[in-house]
Amino acid sequence: MPGCCVPGCSNSTAKGFSMRSFPADPERKALWIANIGKPNWEPKSHSRICEIHFSKDMWEKVRCDGKQKLKCNAVPTIFPSRQQDKSILFNNHNTHENDIDSDNLINDKNNINLFPISQTYSNISISTNMEEEIDWKKQCEELKHLLRKSKQNCKYLQNTLKRREEMFNRIIVKSDRYRRILKERLKRLKANNQNYDKLRISLEKVLDKGQIIVLNGNDRKWSCETIMRAIDSRYTCDNNKI
Ligand SMILES: [Zn+2]
Repeated sequence: MPGCCVPGCSNSTAKGFSMRSFPADPERKALWIANIGKPNWEPKSHSRICEIHFSKDMWEKVRCDGKQKLKCNAVPTIFPSRQQDKSILFNNHNTHENDIDSDNLINDKNNINLFPISQTYSNISISTNMEEEIDWKKQCEELKHLLRKSKQNCKYLQNTLKRREEMFNRIIVKSDRYRRILKERLKRLKANNQNYDKLRISLEKVLDKGQIIVLNGNDRKWSCETIMRAIDSRYTCDNNKI
């Protein structure tokens, strides 16, 4: 009997694996070929695919004779040779095989045949174990991907935080500078205000309120009091002149 037609898979009946023929239905057959992924390849009448390429849900329940059939819509989806750690998978597979052989030996030795481990049943166990390993590896890959993404996000946040910190430091330095400038201006304004107060007091000694208002430019009209004082001054001056 030929070996498995999947690239990288050397399983065969001689190695204890259950081999399956390609379906007669052209649509299903095309799906199987597409999943196997061999370019420009058509299966021959003797081409076979081994059981490990079918996931658990592709199989019917184990029959009372220990054999198991593929479901009518079964499609091969498991291709360990495409996985990164192919060697590990196959090494583990060999380990399982050894375990099963030891069990069989013990059964033979004790002549216990109540629950014989058939070849088909052991193959299904191997297939299930490999499937679990593949699931586990898939989960590991997903977690690694998430971890990488989280690290990237963390780095991005750290960079953002650093940029914000630098920006705040610049703002603090600027604020300090403006505070010093404003303090200087306030000091100058206070000094100017004191000078203004002195000037105002001096002016109030010489001029009345109305004159100060006109000099400030707030009102262009002389008050009656100012006009009267001006007339008095005028007459006083004129009399002196005469
Ligand atoms: Zn195979």
